[in-house]
Amino acid sequence: MRGVTILGSTGSVGVNTLDVIARHRDELRAVALTAHSNDACLFEQCREHQPEFAVLIDPVAAARLRERIRVAGLKTQVLDGAAALEEAARLPATHTVMAAIVGAAGLLPTLAAAQSGKRLLLANKEALVMAGDLLIESVRASGAQLIPIDSEHNAIFQCLGNPAVAGSRPQGLRRIILTASGGPFLNTPAEKLARVTPAEACAHPNWVMGRKISVDSATLMNKGLELIEACWLFGVAPDDVEIVVHPQSVVHSMVEYVDGSVLAQLGNPDMRTPIAHALAWPERRESGVESLDVVRLARITFEAPDLERFPCLGLAQRAARDGGTAPVLLNAANEVAVQAFLECRLNFTAIAVVIEGVLNRVASEPVRSLTTVLDADATARRAAVEAIARLDGVVSDPVAGACA
Ligand code: NAD
Ligand code: MG
Repeated sequence: MRGVTILGSTGSVGVNTLDVIARHRDELRAVALTAHSNDACLFEQCREHQPEFAVLIDPVAAARLRERIRVAGLKTQVLDGAAALEEAARLPATHTVMAAIVGAAGLLPTLAAAQSGKRLLLANKEALVMAGDLLIESVRASGAQLIPIDSEHNAIFQCLGNPAVAGSRPQGLRRIILTASGGPFLNTPAEKLARVTPAEACAHPNWVMGRKISVDSATLMNKGLELIEACWLFGVAPDDVEIVVHPQSVVHSMVEYVDGSVLAQLGNPDMRTPIAHALAWPERRESGVESLDVVRLARITFEAPDLERFPCLGLAQRAARDGGTAPVLLNAANEVAVQAFLECRLNFTAIAVVIEGVLNRVASEPVRSLTTVLDADATARRAAVEAIARLDGVVSDPVAGACA
């Protein structure tokens, strides 16, 4: 029986993880479930999975959850605050930690899982983008197992066959071909992009995901973050990764070896495949995902990404090449700009303008410690807030009715 801590259990990846766990109750059990403030959803999850611990960041929501748990006669202990996330990641009863918090908020508990030698299932790509060096070092030092959950990186991990040491380039690898769906605006003309709404940006054609990653998929920043993620996970350089748009989202990525062999991993776009793969690895377990109907699929296509309509991808490539804290600045500016877009304070096309402004204003530095990372994150957030204020009324005319 393996105990699992899910960081971000109420989110899209978290819910899919519990779905897979529920199919294998004889082998897997939830030890700790954590969320930001959704006590109603976390209560239902506690009732079904009876974890030992439940964590909410928001103390008011935690108090509500504690009371409901008491009334229901459950044994789950409710903790609150960000420090409790790290405790949940380090629990002795926890074998596997699913890191599925969105954004920089997931960094410290993800590091805690890596430092305590757990099997770390990494969905929270922002943690790796910010602190790849520190995270990979921690994994190596503690003997933790790092298995990517991002469908592309999980595909690459599968195509690489023998588990390589985290962060070291596999023998014989020539390059990685990272696929991108292209998002909901793949065929939207440039002049219409400034007026797209958060609802349109979040209506992804193939995947149902949280709002932040949905916007990242629409700007192609998601693929840029995934480029940086791939460099850390597989020890490759940005120029070893080719990004191709593949709108059907069934080829989750490919690897090419020096002998010319290209291996791909295919499957329906359903996160339960990478989640079940990583939970059961090196074995295989049922995930609930439908078989891929290749005849109905009939045609799969690949095309080059359009960096003019989707400048966020180029900005991420630039940060990947610059290294140091550049990816931290990129990620922080993106989080602030995406939040502003979701709250209708910024146009879709201004997201890239804000990020570029921050990259131009704040110098990248070598990453010496976690403090360097956290300082760069804070500086970039301040610079992004200022950039948004400066843009007000210039690039970002209000998106009329977008948030209605
Ligand atoms: P989501 O928004 O649906 O869920 C986020 C979870 O994190 C929720 O449980 C929420 O309560 C928690 N959370 C949010 N802010 C927090 C904070 N400040 N402190 C603690 N917890 C907090 O997001 P998601 O779509 O499930 O994505 C989670 C991560 O997985 C992201 O990094 C995303 O890039 C990555 N990912 C998601 C998918 C997908 O299909 N959804 C695919 C690949 C990678
Ligand atoms: Mg992905």
